[in-house]
Amino acid sequence: MINLEIPEKQTELVDQAHQLAVHMLRPISRTYDRAEHDYPHELDTLAALIDAISETGVTGGAGASGVRRDASPADAASDAGTVRNGAHLASVLSVAEMCWGDIALLLSMPRQGLGNSAIASLANEEQRERYRGTWAAMAITEPGVGSDSAGITTTAVKDGDHYVINGEKIYVTSGDRADSVVVWATLDRELGRAAIKSFLVRKDNPGLTVERLEHKLGIRASDTAAITFTDCRVPAEDLLGSAEIDTTAGFAGAMVTFDNTRPLVAAMAVGCARASLDLTRDLLEQAGVVIDYDRPAQVQSAAAAKFIQLEADWEGTQLLMMQAAWMADNRRPNSLEASMAKAKAGRVGSDVTLSCVQLCGTLGYSEVELLEKWARDSKILDIFEGTQQIQQLIVARRILGLTSAELK
Ligand SMILES: Cc1cc2nc3c(=O)[nH]c(=O)nc-3n(C[C@H](O)[C@H](O)[C@H](O)COP(=O)(O)OP(=O)(O)OC[C@H]3O[C@@H](n4cnc5c(N)ncnc54)[C@H](O)[C@@H]3O)c2cc1C
Repeated sequence: MINLEIPEKQTELVDQAHQLAVHMLRPISRTYDRAEHDYPHELDTLAALIDAISETGVTGGAGASGVRRDASPADAASDAGTVRNGAHLASVLSVAEMCWGDIALLLSMPRQGLGNSAIASLANEEQRERYRGTWAAMAITEPGVGSDSAGITTTAVKDGDHYVINGEKIYVTSGDRADSVVVWATLDRELGRAAIKSFLVRKDNPGLTVERLEHKLGIRASDTAAITFTDCRVPAEDLLGSAEIDTTAGFAGAMVTFDNTRPLVAAMAVGCARASLDLTRDLLEQAGVVIDYDRPAQVQSAAAAKFIQLEADWEGTQLLMMQAAWMADNRRPNSLEASMAKAKAGRVGSDVTLSCVQLCGTLGYSEVELLEKWARDSKILDIFEGTQQIQQLIVARRILGLTSAELK
């Protein structure tokens, strides 16, 4: 049975992550929001600390780099029917804490890129060893391809013991700062989804050019790059996963990454929304608003009632996030739950943070507090890694048992 309390063995990790957020992220949050595109060099120290925490092993990943789902001796517990709270749960809990500090800084953390999640999900043993220590961005989106990633036009053509990649990728998070990029490209456009493979491309590859950085509404501390690949030769051993085109498996291989990363994006929303709620509660109380959990919301002040409703929505989101991660830890298919968590978190993250701006009025809207920043930052969580609408589509397909061709 799922027990959705924070497991005792992970409270230490959660506390550590919270302390890092309080002492290292919050103090530089506004500085790097204003200094868009400046590298937050303070993160180098923090990344080393996160590496150290992650390497303690038992509790799994402390950052956003994702976790692999291998059969290992430790998995024997779930095979024996024992409930296991493992690395996936540890990751979402610590990511939520870090995003209580700052989403954009978490996204800028060296070696914690979304490409690292793809490596964790898809790379074989030898590749993982070779890529150890890399910081990998993830490049799927193209000028004409967003939600429908099956339409990818970037090509990878086999040439001896290399693939030659040509195409343009946009909106690549950490695309400038990371030292490698996991690129989605098609081996054969005629063969559709099954022919889309991911390749690890080193940033010093002469065929790769960072064209520009974007200016954005939020998560300004995180760099977002447009990258072109021109006759970019990549060793064949840098194709992640199988090179075979299995038309019966469709997108299954590449999509495994999302089952791991969507709960992490949900965690980002959970953390940022919690930050807004914590500050808003303090500001409301300072203004004399009494929030009483022992009395029905409708008999309290409008502000208190709204706050209680926001907290209830937040709690539901946190539970969905934990469920999706718990299922991954226990090696149960979690695509449905990962999308449910991401859909709910994307919406609730935006709703909570913007409502907190509203509840706090001028203090919410001004730069005196971080509330306005959190409302800007959290919007991206409803867009990248699959928009709100796409998550709902995935959930509907899963529940109704329909394919992507049957329900578009
Ligand atoms: C700051 C930032 C960082 C990003 N980082 C990365 C990254 O690291 N790597 C990467 O590859 N990409 C990244 N992206 C791109 C992001 O994943 C895409 O923006 C997202 O997938 C949506 O694609 P699109 O913008 O082309 O919108 P579109 O796909 O054109 O969608 C536009 C609107 O139509 C809706 N819509 C589309 N199809 C349907 C449908 N079938 N039914 C109902 N509604 C639909 C969408 O929900 C959306 O509201 C990033 C984007 C931003 C803004």
